[in-house]
Amino acid sequence: MFRLIYASLSDPALDGSEVYSLLAKSKSNNQNSGVTGVLIYGQGYFLQVLEGNRDQVNSVFQRIFIDQRHHDVRIIAAEDLDARDFDTWSMEIIGWPDELDSSMKQILKETTGHDELKPFELDGTQVISLLKKLVRQEGLLGRL
Ligand code: FAD
Repeated sequence: MFRLIYASLSDPALDGSEVYSLLAKSKSNNQNSGVTGVLIYGQGYFLQVLEGNRDQVNSVFQRIFIDQRHHDVRIIAAEDLDARDFDTWSMEIIGWPDELDSSMKQILKETTGHDELKPFELDGTQVISLLKKLVRQEGLLGRL
């Protein structure tokens, strides 16, 4: 099992419906290739975890890397795993709001040590612990 985490800058012209259609395509492709994961979108960033067979994750990432809907794609971590952390979703989204409520601020502070989301400064452990807490927050998963 393999995991790849990357962050990128989203195309500023992208709107919510385009992100939802990108998500729908991702879900169906990933279902076919056994890839699972989570995608954060907001404040001009994408931050994504892809888990699965090494070849499959690489193949998805090669398509993602050249996708015109984002740029400055930076790998945060790429590592072998004993088991997936996010095995429930072929892909699911968490919208990152411009204004954080107190519980999100607390989660961010606890897991990254920062008050703001700075994906390019995070390491893989911080991303996974942030995501594990976010996916447990009611109402966040699946929403922009
Ligand atoms: P098609 O969907 O038929 O696309 C063919 C080509 O057109 C591709 O090069 C595609 O990038 C491009 N394209 C399609 N629609 C648009 C559009 N609206 N605007 C610009 N170009 C477009 N794909 C996955 O399979 N799994 C993922 O987890 C995943 N996560 C992604 C995360 C992010 C942040 C981004 C930006 C893209 C993600 N994608 C993901 C999409 C991926 O980049 C490819 O677009 C997709 O995998 C191509 O699917 P396809 O081969 O079925 O081709």
